[in-house]
Amino acid sequence: MLFNEAKKYIPGGVNSPVRAFGLVEGDPLFINRASGSLLYDEDGDAYIDYVGSWGPMIFGHSHPKIQNAIAEKLPFSTSFGAPTKDETTLAQKIVRMLPDVDKVRLVNSGTEATMTALRLARGFTGRDLVLKFEGCYHGHSDAFLVKAGSGATTGGNPSSAGVPDAVIQNTILAKFNDLSQVASLFLKHGYHIAAVIVEPVAGNMGCIPPKDNFLKGLRFLCDQFGTVLIFDEVMTGFRLAKGGASEHFRVKADLLCYGKIIGGGLPVGAVAGKSRIMDHLAPDGPVYQAGTLSGNPLAVAAGNAQLSMLEEDQELYERLEEKGKVLEKAFNDLKMQGFPIWVNRVGSMISVFFTGAEVKNYDDALNSDIGLFRQFFHEMLKNKVYIPPSPFETWFISDTTSSEMLTETIELINETIKKVYASQLIES
Ligand code: PLP
Repeated sequence: MLFNEAKKYIPGGVNSPVRAFGLVEGDPLFINRASGSLLYDEDGDAYIDYVGSWGPMIFGHSHPKIQNAIAEKLPFSTSFGAPTKDETTLAQKIVRMLPDVDKVRLVNSGTEATMTALRLARGFTGRDLVLKFEGCYHGHSDAFLVKAGSGATTGGNPSSAGVPDAVIQNTILAKFNDLSQVASLFLKHGYHIAAVIVEPVAGNMGCIPPKDNFLKGLRFLCDQFGTVLIFDEVMTGFRLAKGGASEHFRVKADLLCYGKIIGGGLPVGAVAGKSRIMDHLAPDGPVYQAGTLSGNPLAVAAGNAQLSMLEEDQELYERLEEKGKVLEKAFNDLKMQGFPIWVNRVGSMISVFFTGAEVKNYDDALNSDIGLFRQFFHEMLKNKVYIPPSPFETWFISDTTSSEMLTETIELINETIKKVYASQLIES
């Protein structure tokens, strides 16, 4: 009913495609409010939330510190279009927490961050080509909508209509975790490649960790050929560690893209890096980038509150790791019992795939059984556990995901996986 009404006025009834439940079918939940790790729909039903607004809610929904920070700034106006000292405070915090960063440009979304990073890399190197990985999603700008993960996969359109061939001729594709393929591409095109962009832990073809030397190998090749290495840390930034995946895997990128978490749930993104590259951005340099609402005072207030909490909390990542382990073990126990499932996890990012084989790249992810995932998803939803409505997305665990919630979720997972595979046997 709500969905039908929305569809009359909004294309597909949603303002971002994955929300439409296209891959799992059925009507999406319409959410009214959320608190901690509980989402409440318009009927007042509560769900345990493993989507976390696709990442930002690391401390759970409606955290009082974030709400108060926004409330304090609200009476002063919602936008100035002029600099504020809070923007500098936010940039200072980011620089303090990221050892390889001198400067930060705030934008409004992850898409803007990656788009800006690519233009900056091109302007800095004077080269055009960008190398991206199949199944990685870097927002919806033209250059990256080639074999993109997330909603682009969910909708069955690995690439998008409306993207001119001329634009994507400058985009080279490689398989995630296939360093020898990347090396061959460098041998062929190396001195024309402006940037390699990668999700250091892929989160948009489900969660896929990098193999041992994959990120280090990318660093090495970029150094040899003078290419800018961009880590798209829109999901992993401040989630896997204060220093994101770069800290977790001890690999330095030249440019880092952020979104989600640094806005505490309000729209903020950022590009960050060393001054030698960042100073090429306008107004100091020739690479143009701008935004009327960039550094919006309410979004910056929320971001400052969330980053202070992240900076002060010395045990957050250990707590998240423990929770992640518990969930991962539940899936691995089922695997040991003979159910053909595969689980990937890094910290509080986790996904289950309905395949017995290892999932290490996009092809492997696409080989998992979507029909089984669909049944699994709906059974979980019926029992009030809200996971991403696609196997090509990552579940996010939050600090407010309690051990009771995990126990309830695991009991449900056990029942549901058994049910899903039993129904498959009946059908065959
Ligand atoms: N990069 C990654 C890794 C993402 O996961 C996303 C969104 O999910 C983006 C970029 C785009 O961010 P936004 O949706 O804020 O434009």
